Amino acid sequence: AKEQGRNTYQFYTEGMQDREVMRLELDKDLSQALAHNEFVLHYQPQLDLDNAEIKSVEALIRWQHPRRGLLPPVDFIPLAEESGRITDIGRWVVMAACQQLANWQGTACEHLRIAVNLSGRELDDEQLVDHIREALKAENVPADRLEVELTEEIFIQNIERNLTQLSRLHQLGVHLAIDDFGVGYSSLGYLRDFPVDLLKIDRSFITEVTERHDDAVITRAVINLAHNLGIQVVAEGVETEEQLAFLKNHRCNLAQGYLISRPIPAAELERAMAQGLLL
Ligand code: C2E
Ligand code: CA
Ligand code: CA
Ligand code: CA
Repeated sequence: AKEQGRNTYQFYTEGMQDREVMRLELDKDLSQALAHNEFVLHYQPQLDLDNAEIKSVEALIRWQHPRRGLLPPVDFIPLAEESGRITDIGRWVVMAACQQLANWQGTACEHLRIAVNLSGRELDDEQLVDHIREALKAENVPADRLEVELTEEIFIQNIERNLTQLSRLHQLGVHLAIDDFGVGYSSLGYLRDFPVDLLKIDRSFITEVTERHDDAVITRAVINLAHNLGIQVVAEGVETEEQLAFLKNHRCNLAQGYLISRPIPAAELERAMAQGLLL
């Protein structure tokens, strides 16, 4: 048993060291990724359930790593949040989204709004709102073509500061969405105090919404709550026709998920929009 314990320990520390080495290496690569232009945004359409049109897309970052291939955000965003590099990544995301909006002028995508994800950590940046304003101006894009998705964590810490940042953003005309709604342990009172335009019901409620009574009840309640507050609702992770029908029946405003489309590169989105493939 002693022998085994030692082996386990050894295995454990080696694993830890490997992980630490990998983290350090990844962090070093991350510091060069911006300079080497290795990030790319993929876009996932949101279907407007009133008229079956695509009116907005969510931008989701990927990292074209020189050796490891296309990395999903889970492989580097948490690390970037820890190191603070997320601020620069967020600036790049906002700029890239604004450039994309400008490039879409005159194409089948020209009416689309782009929603970008910001971590709570990015609200630490005092210049965030100025940067967003300048990015919009540089590309000559109206502020209401841009949406910002934040999770409920912003209602839990640094509330005063976050309220100030979001009020300034909202005054600019940028839309505000609460991401992963329902899993963040925040108080509903913040929906009253913060200028929220959209709630995105977390995928965990949608996955079994047509099979589980409790998920159906929660989803309906969130939709009614939001509508009574003048807030629109997006359902995340819609994968089946049955889920889509349920959401339509209960007056959910928008649906997003693999049923409609996976997140895809801009060129692919442009082709799909031009050919009306997403409707
Ligand atoms: P999120 O904002 O909740 O994004 C939704 C995630 O669910 C995306 O994963 C998307 O690809 C995935 N998804 C969409 N539809 C479906 C579906 O029908 N079924 C399933 N199973 N999954 C679906 P992704 O792209 O890997 O992004 C993961 C998370 O990384 C995002 O979660 C967001 O929190 C973060 N993230 C992505 N891009 C950025 C960014 O530019 N900045 C920051 N700070 N975070 C980002
Ligand atoms: Ca999101
Ligand atoms: Ca989400
Ligand atoms: Ca999420």
